[in-house]
Amino acid sequence: MATVTEGVAVEHFDVLIVGAGISGIGGAYHLGQQRPDKSYVVLETQAGFGGTWRTHTYPGIRSDSDLHTFGYRFKPWRNAPIASAEEIMTYLGEVIEENDLDRHIRYEHAITSAFWSSADARWTLEVTQRDTGEQLRFTTNFLWMCQGYYRHSEGYTPDWEGTADFGGQIIHPQTWPDDLDYAGKNVVVIGSGATAATLIPALAPDCAHVTMLQRSPTYFSTGRNINELVEMLREIDIDESWIHEIARRRILFDQNQFMHRAADEPEVVKQELFAAIREHLGEDYDVEKHFGPAYRPWRQRVAFVPDGDLFEEIASGKASVVTDAIVRFNETGIELASGEQLDADIVVTATGFDLNVLGDIAFTIDGTPLDFHDTVAYRGAMFTGIPNMAWVFGYFRASWTLRADMIADFVCRLLGHMDERGAAAVTPTLRPDDADMTLLPWVDPENFNPGYLMRGLHLLPQQGDREPWRHKQNYWVEKDELPAADLDDGTLVFTP
Ligand SMILES: Cc1cc2nc3c(=O)[nH]c(=O)nc-3n(C[C@H](O)[C@H](O)[C@H](O)COP(=O)(O)OP(=O)(O)OC[C@H]3O[C@@H](n4cnc5c(N)ncnc54)[C@H](O)[C@@H]3O)c2cc1C
Repeated sequence: MATVTEGVAVEHFDVLIVGAGISGIGGAYHLGQQRPDKSYVVLETQAGFGGTWRTHTYPGIRSDSDLHTFGYRFKPWRNAPIASAEEIMTYLGEVIEENDLDRHIRYEHAITSAFWSSADARWTLEVTQRDTGEQLRFTTNFLWMCQGYYRHSEGYTPDWEGTADFGGQIIHPQTWPDDLDYAGKNVVVIGSGATAATLIPALAPDCAHVTMLQRSPTYFSTGRNINELVEMLREIDIDESWIHEIARRRILFDQNQFMHRAADEPEVVKQELFAAIREHLGEDYDVEKHFGPAYRPWRQRVAFVPDGDLFEEIASGKASVVTDAIVRFNETGIELASGEQLDADIVVTATGFDLNVLGDIAFTIDGTPLDFHDTVAYRGAMFTGIPNMAWVFGYFRASWTLRADMIADFVCRLLGHMDERGAAAVTPTLRPDDADMTLLPWVDPENFNPGYLMRGLHLLPQQGDREPWRHKQNYWVEKDELPAADLDDGTLVFTP
């Protein structure tokens, strides 16, 4: 319904989804299926859908999770498990088209602020339409935050000394220039994560040489980019939706085993990971130095290298790994702590993201600006003192989408429960017994500690030491707990 207030057009929707990435598109699908009575809109800053998979255009961009679990549970994945951004975009486009979601999505709509009024039991959002410069206003009963976790406009680059002296180009993969000419050049990729591991085999064939410069190593697993079980099931003509479900269960079962083995017998798991890499690099290569982190496997996501392509480029001599610290940039390249000099024409800083927890939206609740860090997470999805709002924050180590699907079920169930109770608002609220609860960071740095999260812990909500205030980051626990969550246990306060 549209009205005009203070000369600004105002539109109202029962639910407003922020962002048209994997989480927002999934949210729109589930809402349409599970709560068809609700009106909703998806507002997206960019000119199209896809989020992460639209923003990142660097050579070789691909998933590091398999698409049976990184895809939605409701739409079978039919290609090889590790997918290019292009394949993921096609899949998302099909979800939009097959479910007629496009009519609900408004692109070029950047939300700048969100005010909650308890008197009206609704959110008011100020929105800039980027292509026209128009200021718009939306109101909604429920805000479904699917804005991801990092700033899309630019990536994170550490502040190194001497970058102004460097005579070559410095590029962040998040803002990759379409016309970057790297043919025949010496390229240094700074970073050790999935982005570096993806970029290097894509660049190496055209460059003179690519060096992966890392301060500390990352664990990689490797194998063929094929799921043998899926291939076998296809051969005997099993329905694709069955194959998708069976593949998901098998993959999740195997990941659970791996997670337990990584905790119970870390040394054995480590040696298995090393052995797979040695098959590409040979016995003389110092795998432990370059691919053996100080932490045990699974503390951070173990990135998958399909068909060992990164290692094949190293074996061919087109790529190499240097594990060393940067002292400073100079005119021809980078001076390292070991005293070595690494010359480069192009330096690619695969150094991660700039955490951006609430999509750069200024939140105000009944006139008080929100400090998100002051809140405590309810099941890692809603937050104390913030009414009618849920945030989809997926898994770090399992596929993000597993949690996006589950939070969508939870939000749809909660919306139904509010209707049954005649509640206009729901606010997670600590019980009297929770008042002295120990508050912990959003993620336990001992257990999971990538740079972007550690740099931003002060911006993120906190978690408690008991149910339902824990943010578990464990699919295998949450898959049973979330659907069974008692919405009337007193931690969700409903108001008429
Ligand atoms: C290169 C790369 C590879 C990855 N690979 C994997 C993988 O293999 N497996 C895995 O599980 N995870 C992976 N991830 C993590 C990945 O970000 C998530 O899995 C997933 O794509 C996130 O989807 P999302 O929709 O929650 O957020 P995003 O993809 O970040 O999308 C959020 C959307 O919200 C929009 N938005 C933000 N703020 C506003 C605002 N104020 N107003 C309107 N719109 C707004 C953004 O423009 C964006 O389109 C990867 C991340 C990167 C960067």
